[in-house]
Amino acid sequence: MSDAPTYIGFEEYSEHVPVGIPSAVQQATDRFVSGRAARVAELPEWESLRQIGSDIRLHTIENMDAYLTRLEEKVQAAGGHVHWAQTADEANQIVLQIAEEHGVKTVVKSKSMATEEIRLNHALEAAGIQAIETDLGEYIIQLAGTGPSHIIVPAVHLKKEEIAALFSEKLDIHAPNDPIELARIAREVLREKFLQAGMGISGGNFLIAETGTLVLVTNEGNGRMCTTTPDLHVAVVGIDKVIPDWESLTVFLKLLARSATGQKLSTYTQFITGPRREEGEFGPKEFHLVLLDNGRSSILKDPVGREVFKCIRCGACANVCPVYKNVGGFAYGWFISGPIGAILSPQMLGTQTARELPFASTLCGACAEVCPVKIPIPKILLHLRRRVAQGDVFSLPTVGAPLRTTANLASLALAQNWIYRIGTRFLPAIMAIFRRGDWIPHAPYPLSRWTQARPLPPFTAHFRNWWKARPAKRKGSSG
Ligand code: SF4
Repeated sequence: MSDAPTYIGFEEYSEHVPVGIPSAVQQATDRFVSGRAARVAELPEWESLRQIGSDIRLHTIENMDAYLTRLEEKVQAAGGHVHWAQTADEANQIVLQIAEEHGVKTVVKSKSMATEEIRLNHALEAAGIQAIETDLGEYIIQLAGTGPSHIIVPAVHLKKEEIAALFSEKLDIHAPNDPIELARIAREVLREKFLQAGMGISGGNFLIAETGTLVLVTNEGNGRMCTTTPDLHVAVVGIDKVIPDWESLTVFLKLLARSATGQKLSTYTQFITGPRREEGEFGPKEFHLVLLDNGRSSILKDPVGREVFKCIRCGACANVCPVYKNVGGFAYGWFISGPIGAILSPQMLGTQTARELPFASTLCGACAEVCPVKIPIPKILLHLRRRVAQGDVFSLPTVGAPLRTTANLASLALAQNWIYRIGTRFLPAIMAIFRRGDWIPHAPYPLSRWTQARPLPPFTAHFRNWWKARPAKRKGSSG
């Protein structure tokens, strides 16, 4: 079996960029930012909690093999089945096989970024199995035929008027512009589906190695319905979601809801340890945990890049990001957007595929300031920029050798004053050959890449001359 992760859909995803994203996104993210600030201000120990959260995540990343082994033992001891999926295709095949063995025709799903990552819905549909998203936001984007545009609020880019129009068109009803009424309509449609479904599929916010417990944190009751109504529950979870024990969980629960939605605690926190053990107990008869690698093991080898796995998917970094707030989530081209998407996608998809993302940042650092687990996002962005330009043991450079050489020479010249001074003497003379009036319309390669799109201003070193002349002028004018 190949170690290479299977990724599908980066370009396809970007095709769904709707018009009018910024205003809806800005309103929603502003609300989250002020809610977070209020909740954080209530906790004097917030900074210590962030440090503890960061330390636990880092410790788990460094000892992931041991914690995953423990987790597997505990899930099996509780009566669950554990499957290891190296790639997205493999994860999809595992789920399809379980569905086939049980004759499943309809699946209800709770919100899961892991299943977005592997595009499980497409695989299920291709196999003739109806997959219904039951989180309200996910249900809306499923009707719209797009992916999520925010980690925790998948339909954040849509206003109530647009959702009403979507419901009216897709459900063939007259849906009013009233959020309560829209939620009621969705609930009515989905209740039927919960009762019909042969399988419930979820993701997972955390996996507790100590007891083999899957933790789901949600604000809607759909997660419980998906994981308890059908007799079969399959959870698809990235291996990075493992945490050591229940004590660690108390730290992450305090950090997560406050950072995500400005709540003290999310409405539902669900703990699932294996299937139901006795007749009459609550829960499914069979529980399967699919542990998804899909390239994560390779990223773990990079001491800088692997800090991305400290992420608890709160979305706070996107809420404060000036780039995300102006372009929306679809511009990031994959299921995960915002600053966390900018550091995760290039590592998982490879810098050949997602090489622009590390550069789509002002490096303002707002993301790192709010991140509840202290992920040094700007540092990782710079690390990935270097990887795109120069390559390293993980990826080849995506910038051509002549351009790289030119950039390296420019960096040397800017760092060494004497080289720069020699350059300022000779460059204007060389450029005069290509100069036409005040511009250089056609430069030789690699600068021709620039002049294909616009003319280049000639290099003049005017600033240095001006700066040299400046003290004498000032002296003259003040005297
Ligand atoms: S990187 Fe930090 S702020 Fe962004 S989603 Fe992950 S945990 Fe939240």
